[in-house]
Amino acid sequence: MNWDIVIGHTDTIQNLKAMLGAGRMPHALLFAGPEGIGKTLVANILSAALLCSDSIRPCGSCLSCRQMIQGVHPDFTLVQPDGASIRIEQIRALQHQVSLVPYLAGRRVIIIENSEKMTAQAANSLLKILEEPPEHAVFILIAAGKQMLLDTVLSRCLVVPFYPVPWQQLAVALVDRGYPQEQAEVAARLGNGRMGTALHLLEPDGMRLRDKAFEFLTALHSSENLLWTAPAEWEKFNRPEIIAILRHCSLLLRDMLVYSLVLDTAVVFNLDLSRQLAEQAAYWRQTSLLSAFKEITIAEKAVYANGNIRLIIEALLIKLRELAKGGMHVAGSSWSTI
Ligand SMILES: [Zn+2]
Repeated sequence: MNWDIVIGHTDTIQNLKAMLGAGRMPHALLFAGPEGIGKTLVANILSAALLCSDSIRPCGSCLSCRQMIQGVHPDFTLVQPDGASIRIEQIRALQHQVSLVPYLAGRRVIIIENSEKMTAQAANSLLKILEEPPEHAVFILIAAGKQMLLDTVLSRCLVVPFYPVPWQQLAVALVDRGYPQEQAEVAARLGNGRMGTALHLLEPDGMRLRDKAFEFLTALHSSENLLWTAPAEWEKFNRPEIIAILRHCSLLLRDMLVYSLVLDTAVVFNLDLSRQLAEQAAYWRQTSLLSAFKEITIAEKAVYANGNIRLIIEALLIKLRELAKGGMHVAGSSWSTI
């Protein structure tokens, strides 16, 4: 475990190393950024560095580093949601733990994952600790966004934002890890600037939601029974998965538009489906692709807003079938009735 395994986030790491080197680490940091972007990885390496006894930190070989790698360091605490939230009892237990003198490293490091899931009582309890933190304690809060935390907690933290990494950088890193060039490039482009997401896409069934989206779009032209079969199939997925499938649909339509406009195919996301996408693009008018794109965005918002999945997918299907058939523009939208 060392800094070299982090892809991107160069400035962030430089700043953290500078604070570490100068011995000026704040008592509380908030790592903010979307899931899969690398916050937890950087938090773990920073924790190891804070606890390491060597001059080049983390060295990976001192007793502290070895215990961190094994997940048994006595001065390191990881707090995660217990079910849907982080409860006040967990923060009370933490309060007792951080008050104890460090056992091995001269410091105690606490990572609070998904800190936006703290209940109001838990957050207020943490605030009390952060108002008068023990000299030896460093808290690293991890959250999807800083706006999800109480302002009072936020005011006690140094906010460290994590931004998407350029896909080219992700692709190079994935090839370095042994993934074939094309697979690496597709995962890097679809990964949305997040190494964790790109790696997830490269797992054995990592592309199943993308493939589902492609199957759905292809069936618009080929399956007469789609209106009866598709809504029931979509209901088998949970809401985040449905949103992911709809996003993949948008990207696939966007790629088809690239082919239909005969633009530079270097900007295609789903490179591995180039031939099929070029074939599919021939079925659509450009204006229909744009309208379909818009309908999918509206459906995505309806899923977000807790709309009825079956009704949303049925309505989307009717509109997409119409667009796919003749490229006829569907005026207005009826989502407000769902
Ligand atoms: Zn070490």
